[in-house]
Amino acid sequence: MGFEALLGNETLKQNLTAAGRKGKLSHFYLISGPEGSGRHTLADLIAAAMLCREPEGPCGVCRSCRKVLSHTHPDYITIDDPEKKILPVRLIREARSDIFIRPNEGDKKIYLFPRGQDLNIEGQNALLKVLEEPPEYGVFLILADNPDKLLPTVRSRCVELKMRSLSEALLRSILTREFPEADSQTVSAAILRSGGYLGQARKLMSGAAVSDTTRTFARCYAARDVYGLLSLLVPMEKWKRDALIPELGAWLEVLEQAIVCRAGLPAALPEAARIAESRHPRDLMAHCQVLKKAMEYAQGNVSCAAVCGWLNWALR
Ligand SMILES: [Zn+2]
Repeated sequence: MGFEALLGNETLKQNLTAAGRKGKLSHFYLISGPEGSGRHTLADLIAAAMLCREPEGPCGVCRSCRKVLSHTHPDYITIDDPEKKILPVRLIREARSDIFIRPNEGDKKIYLFPRGQDLNIEGQNALLKVLEEPPEYGVFLILADNPDKLLPTVRSRCVELKMRSLSEALLRSILTREFPEADSQTVSAAILRSGGYLGQARKLMSGAAVSDTTRTFARCYAARDVYGLLSLLVPMEKWKRDALIPELGAWLEVLEQAIVCRAGLPAALPEAARIAESRHPRDLMAHCQVLKKAMEYAQGNVSCAAVCGWLNWALR
């Protein structure tokens, strides 16, 4: 299997394969790139390569590899709390003492930080202490969509692996295989809007990414149906914030696509194309800001009821 499960990024894969053969994989990797660029796949493959029981891992089939790839290996530990916007320093301190307990099954103990950009200065300083004096079996894989948010002292200790976008031809062949029903215009629009990153292109292609609530929002918004919007938002007042925030994120995505569509580029969602025809760009820009604000409020201490009430007024 090797690193082939990661698509594209040939130079990076060759370098890692060569380092693996020489037994020279680093203890600290910073894997940078936007969402959907394959950072998680790469981190899993590096961890599998380090814990694989075969001579030239990752083989992908031994017990160790399978446990790593399904995130059930006791020596491959994720440090995150998805509920918190900033990664709590407590978790980093816990990892710092946990690392001195020897690995359970393998020769390495690997810590994955999926949101490096969400570490505050205190958290990064806590991390730095262990990066300075790790036990010889300790490994850190830090993922970040914006590596500039990391302190130079943290960054300089890591080998940085930058995820590259995939070629249009490669993306087209993958998407056409995975979505055989889609027409070529939809595929082209998804490729264009994905920035060349497969995860984002897949998300754009997947009709499931748009919920019924989002479709109803798009229909009411395009038709300036104030009553329809009110009927949609009132029941949402009782939603939990972890459901409300991604839903508003999907609304924002529809409006952003409508803006792209007004600029003459194809939209992956038919709903966005309809909005682009009926609403003024000035409204679209203002309402994107409104939705961003609403998501911020919901992430803070404002109740979902108050956020939905405000949206009903602010989205007109
Ligand atoms: Zn293996």
